[in-house]
Amino acid sequence: MTEPQRWTPETEPQEVIWWALKAHPDLLMTSAFNLNGTVLLDLAAKAGYLGEVVFVDTGYHFPQTLQTRDTLIQGYPQLNFVTLSAHQPEEIWGQEQYRSDPDDCCAVRKVAPLQNYLAEKSPSALLNARSRDQAQTRSEVGFLEPGKHLRVNPLAYWTRQRLEAYAIAENLPVNPLYWSGFLSIGCWPCTRAVRPGENARAGRWADQGKTECGLWVGEKAL
Ligand code: SF4
Repeated sequence: MTEPQRWTPETEPQEVIWWALKAHPDLLMTSAFNLNGTVLLDLAAKAGYLGEVVFVDTGYHFPQTLQTRDTLIQGYPQLNFVTLSAHQPEEIWGQEQYRSDPDDCCAVRKVAPLQNYLAEKSPSALLNARSRDQAQTRSEVGFLEPGKHLRVNPLAYWTRQRLEAYAIAENLPVNPLYWSGFLSIGCWPCTRAVRPGENARAGRWADQGKTECGLWVGEKAL
Protein backbone atom coordinates (compact mmCIF):
# COMPACT_ATOMS: atom_id res chain seq x y z
CA MET A 1 0.00 0.00 0.00
CA THR A 2 1.36 3.44 -0.96
CA GLU A 3 0.64 6.79 0.65
CA PRO A 4 -1.14 9.63 -1.21
CA GLN A 5 2.04 11.67 -1.71
CA ARG A 6 3.40 8.89 -3.93
CA TRP A 7 0.27 8.50 -6.03
CA THR A 8 0.31 9.39 -9.72
CA PRO A 9 -2.45 9.21 -12.35
CA GLU A 10 -1.21 5.66 -13.05
CA THR A 11 -1.82 4.54 -9.47
CA GLU A 12 -4.30 1.69 -9.48
CA PRO A 13 -7.71 2.28 -7.82
CA GLN A 14 -7.06 -0.64 -5.47
CA GLU A 15 -4.12 1.25 -3.94
CA VAL A 16 -6.35 4.20 -3.24
CA ILE A 17 -9.07 2.00 -1.75
CA TRP A 18 -6.61 0.13 0.47
CA TRP A 19 -5.26 3.42 1.78
CA ALA A 20 -8.79 4.74 2.39
CA LEU A 21 -9.83 1.60 4.26
CA LYS A 22 -6.86 1.93 6.58
CA ALA A 23 -6.90 5.71 7.02
CA HIS A 24 -10.69 5.99 7.30
CA PRO A 25 -12.24 2.89 8.88
CA ASP A 26 -15.60 4.65 8.90
CA LEU A 27 -15.46 5.05 5.11
CA LEU A 28 -18.91 5.15 3.53
CA MET A 29 -19.75 4.51 -0.12
CA THR A 30 -22.47 6.19 -2.13
CA SER A 31 -23.63 4.78 -5.45
CA ALA A 32 -26.04 5.40 -8.31
CA PHE A 33 -25.31 1.91 -9.71
CA ASN A 34 -24.09 3.20 -13.06
CA LEU A 35 -20.97 1.79 -14.80
CA ASN A 36 -18.57 3.69 -12.55
CA GLY A 37 -20.49 2.79 -9.42
CA THR A 38 -20.67 -0.89 -10.26
CA VAL A 39 -16.95 -1.08 -11.04
CA LEU A 40 -16.05 0.76 -7.83
CA LEU A 41 -18.34 -1.46 -5.78
CA ASP A 42 -16.58 -4.55 -7.12
CA LEU A 43 -13.10 -3.12 -6.59
CA ALA A 44 -13.99 -2.00 -3.06
CA ALA A 45 -15.50 -5.34 -2.14
CA LYS A 46 -12.41 -7.17 -3.42
CA ALA A 47 -10.21 -4.78 -1.43
CA GLY A 48 -12.08 -5.69 1.75
CA TYR A 49 -14.70 -2.98 2.08
CA LEU A 50 -17.53 -4.20 4.31
CA GLY A 51 -19.43 -0.99 4.88
CA GLU A 52 -22.56 0.64 3.56
CA VAL A 53 -23.48 1.32 -0.05
CA VAL A 54 -25.90 4.25 0.08
CA PHE A 55 -28.34 4.88 -2.75
CA VAL A 56 -30.91 7.67 -2.96
CA ASP A 57 -34.23 6.60 -4.44
CA THR A 58 -35.75 9.74 -5.89
CA GLY A 59 -38.89 7.93 -6.96
CA TYR A 60 -37.94 8.48 -10.60
CA HIS A 61 -35.34 5.80 -11.26
CA PHE A 62 -35.54 3.52 -14.28
CA PRO A 63 -36.74 0.02 -13.42
CA GLN A 64 -33.41 -1.24 -14.81
CA THR A 65 -31.53 0.80 -12.21
CA LEU A 66 -33.54 -0.65 -9.35
CA GLN A 67 -33.06 -4.13 -10.82
CA THR A 68 -29.31 -3.51 -11.02
CA ARG A 69 -29.32 -2.50 -7.37
CA ASP A 70 -31.18 -5.67 -6.44
CA THR A 71 -28.79 -7.83 -8.47
CA LEU A 72 -25.81 -6.22 -6.73
CA ILE A 73 -27.43 -6.79 -3.35
CA GLN A 74 -27.59 -10.49 -4.19
CA GLY A 75 -24.04 -10.54 -5.51
CA TYR A 76 -22.33 -8.78 -2.61
CA PRO A 77 -23.96 -10.08 0.58
CA GLN A 78 -21.04 -8.84 2.65
CA LEU A 79 -22.00 -5.22 1.94
CA ASN A 80 -24.75 -3.29 3.66
CA PHE A 81 -26.97 -1.68 1.01
CA VAL A 82 -28.95 1.29 2.25
CA THR A 83 -31.70 2.94 0.18
CA LEU A 84 -32.72 6.44 1.19
CA SER A 85 -36.04 7.86 0.06
CA ALA A 86 -37.05 11.43 -0.57
CA HIS A 87 -39.93 12.13 1.77
CA GLN A 88 -42.05 14.50 -0.24
CA PRO A 89 -45.61 15.59 0.47
CA GLU A 90 -48.08 14.06 -1.96
CA GLU A 91 -49.19 17.47 -3.21
CA ILE A 92 -45.64 18.19 -4.46
CA TRP A 93 -44.88 14.62 -5.55
CA GLY A 94 -47.34 14.72 -8.41
CA GLN A 95 -46.47 18.10 -9.89
CA GLU A 96 -43.67 17.19 -12.31
CA GLN A 97 -41.30 19.43 -10.43
CA TYR A 98 -38.48 18.06 -12.59
CA ARG A 99 -39.92 20.17 -15.44
CA SER A 100 -40.68 23.39 -13.59
CA ASP A 101 -37.68 23.51 -11.25
CA PRO A 102 -35.16 20.68 -11.72
CA ASP A 103 -32.69 22.27 -9.29
CA ASP A 104 -35.24 22.22 -6.52
CA CYS A 105 -36.37 18.75 -7.53
CA CYS A 106 -32.79 17.46 -7.16
CA ALA A 107 -32.37 19.41 -3.93
CA VAL A 108 -35.34 17.78 -2.23
CA ARG A 109 -35.22 14.34 -3.82
CA LYS A 110 -31.48 13.69 -4.03
CA VAL A 111 -29.36 16.12 -2.06
CA ALA A 112 -31.47 16.48 1.09
CA PRO A 113 -31.91 12.77 1.84
CA LEU A 114 -28.18 12.14 1.51
CA GLN A 115 -27.22 15.29 3.40
CA ASN A 116 -29.46 14.30 6.26
CA TYR A 117 -28.11 10.78 6.33
CA LEU A 118 -24.50 11.92 6.27
CA ALA A 119 -25.17 14.47 9.01
CA GLU A 120 -26.44 11.60 11.12
CA LYS A 121 -23.63 9.15 10.29
CA SER A 122 -20.85 11.74 10.05
CA PRO A 123 -18.30 9.58 8.21
CA SER A 124 -14.82 11.07 7.89
CA ALA A 125 -14.58 10.00 4.24
CA LEU A 126 -16.79 9.00 1.31
CA LEU A 127 -15.92 6.55 -1.44
CA ASN A 128 -17.05 8.06 -4.72
CA ALA A 129 -17.05 6.70 -8.29
CA ARG A 130 -16.60 9.86 -10.36
CA SER A 131 -13.97 9.92 -13.11
CA ARG A 132 -12.41 12.74 -15.11
CA ASP A 133 -13.59 11.78 -18.55
CA GLN A 134 -17.27 11.66 -17.61
CA ALA A 135 -17.72 15.39 -18.29
CA GLN A 136 -15.94 18.73 -18.45
CA THR A 137 -17.28 19.51 -14.98
CA ARG A 138 -15.32 16.52 -13.68
CA SER A 139 -12.11 17.05 -15.64
CA GLU A 140 -10.11 18.00 -12.55
CA VAL A 141 -11.36 15.34 -10.16
CA GLY A 142 -8.43 13.88 -8.23
CA PHE A 143 -8.03 10.87 -5.97
CA LEU A 144 -8.74 12.96 -2.88
CA GLU A 145 -10.93 16.02 -2.39
CA PRO A 146 -11.01 17.73 1.00
CA GLY A 147 -14.35 18.84 2.36
CA LYS A 148 -16.73 18.26 5.19
CA HIS A 149 -16.17 14.60 4.40
CA LEU A 150 -12.98 13.73 2.51
CA ARG A 151 -14.04 12.43 -0.89
CA VAL A 152 -12.00 9.50 -2.14
CA ASN A 153 -12.25 8.97 -5.89
CA PRO A 154 -10.30 5.81 -6.82
CA LEU A 155 -11.54 5.87 -10.44
CA ALA A 156 -10.56 9.50 -11.07
CA TYR A 157 -8.12 8.64 -13.86
CA TRP A 158 -9.79 5.59 -15.39
CA THR A 159 -11.26 6.13 -18.83
CA ARG A 160 -14.64 4.85 -19.90
CA GLN A 161 -12.91 2.27 -22.08
CA ARG A 162 -10.97 0.97 -19.09
CA LEU A 163 -14.09 0.85 -16.94
CA GLU A 164 -15.95 -1.08 -19.62
CA ALA A 165 -13.05 -3.50 -20.07
CA TYR A 166 -12.97 -4.17 -16.34
CA ALA A 167 -16.74 -4.67 -16.14
CA ILE A 168 -16.68 -7.13 -19.05
CA ALA A 169 -13.63 -9.02 -17.76
CA GLU A 170 -15.22 -9.39 -14.33
CA ASN A 171 -18.67 -10.11 -15.75
CA LEU A 172 -20.24 -7.35 -13.66
CA PRO A 173 -24.02 -6.76 -13.77
CA VAL A 174 -23.86 -3.31 -15.37
CA ASN A 175 -27.19 -1.51 -15.77
CA PRO A 176 -28.41 -2.78 -19.19
CA LEU A 177 -29.35 0.77 -20.17
CA TYR A 178 -25.65 1.59 -20.29
CA TRP A 179 -25.08 -0.67 -23.28
CA SER A 180 -27.97 1.09 -25.05
CA GLY A 181 -26.21 4.44 -24.93
CA PHE A 182 -27.25 5.67 -21.51
CA LEU A 183 -23.65 6.33 -20.45
CA SER A 184 -24.75 8.22 -17.35
CA ILE A 185 -28.01 7.16 -15.77
CA GLY A 186 -30.10 9.27 -13.45
CA CYS A 187 -33.85 9.73 -13.17
CA TRP A 188 -35.91 8.81 -16.22
CA PRO A 189 -37.43 12.29 -16.77
CA CYS A 190 -33.94 13.81 -16.96
CA THR A 191 -31.88 11.20 -18.80
CA ARG A 192 -31.56 10.33 -22.49
CA ALA A 193 -29.09 8.22 -24.44
CA VAL A 194 -25.84 9.92 -25.41
CA ARG A 195 -25.34 10.79 -29.08
CA PRO A 196 -22.11 10.14 -31.05
CA GLY A 197 -19.39 12.60 -30.02
CA GLU A 198 -21.08 13.68 -26.80
CA ASN A 199 -19.51 13.25 -23.39
CA ALA A 200 -20.78 10.57 -21.04
CA ARG A 201 -23.02 12.92 -19.09
CA ALA A 202 -24.48 14.81 -22.06
CA GLY A 203 -27.71 12.84 -21.69
CA ARG A 204 -28.35 14.20 -18.21
CA TRP A 205 -30.70 17.21 -18.05
CA ALA A 206 -30.12 17.71 -21.79
CA ASP A 207 -31.42 21.11 -22.93
CA GLN A 208 -32.15 22.12 -19.32
CA GLY A 209 -28.90 24.05 -18.73
CA LYS A 210 -28.02 21.78 -15.85
CA THR A 211 -25.05 19.42 -15.57
CA GLU A 212 -24.93 18.16 -11.99
CA CYS A 213 -27.53 17.32 -9.38
CA GLY A 214 -25.70 19.30 -6.70
CA LEU A 215 -24.36 16.41 -4.64
CA TRP A 216 -20.76 16.93 -5.62
CA VAL A 217 -20.56 20.54 -6.75
CA GLY A 218 -18.72 23.40 -5.06
CA GLU A 219 -20.11 24.57 -1.77
CA LYS A 220 -22.99 22.15 -2.05
CA ALA A 221 -20.55 19.25 -1.99
CA LEU A 222 -21.16 16.92 0.88
S1 SF4 B 1 -32.68 14.12 -11.82
FE1 SF4 B 1 -34.65 15.01 -12.49
S2 SF4 B 1 -36.31 13.78 -11.56
FE2 SF4 B 1 -34.34 13.26 -10.53
S3 SF4 B 1 -34.32 14.53 -8.72
FE3 SF4 B 1 -33.20 15.68 -10.30
S4 SF4 B 1 -34.73 16.95 -11.41
FE4 SF4 B 1 -35.84 15.42 -10.12
